[in-house]
Amino acid sequence: MKHIIFRSRSDSSDEEYLVELQIDHSTVKLTCSCPAGSHGQLCKHRFAFAQGLDDYLLHEEERASLQEVKDIIGHSSIFETIDQINKETAAIEQAKKRLKNLRNAAGRVMDKGFALTKT
Ligand SMILES: [Zn+2]
Repeated sequence: MKHIIFRSRSDSSDEEYLVELQIDHSTVKLTCSCPAGSHGQLCKHRFAFAQGLDDYLLHEEERASLQEVKDIIGHSSIFETIDQINKETAAIEQAKKRLKNLRNAAGRVMDKGFALTKT
């Protein structure tokens, strides 16, 4: 049984949350005590720590465990899902940029004037 704990900060209050990675036999659990995490959602704390990111690291002495968690997750069955989430998030960002460009272009064309018939 392996047990790694990170204390994490809240963006909106002084509260600390506990992000815990537990390995029991060959099963890994990564839980967070924040409201979202407690309700089974992939909160930002779990998502960050699962990737070894220090975005929500509160206590420097816990930094040494980041790489270990990243390695454990990297070899686990959840890795593909995390990778896919990152890819889909990037795709959404690209789509948002294209949408913004289209909206800006449509606005400019409406000001400038456009053909009465389809081309
Ligand atoms: Zn959380």
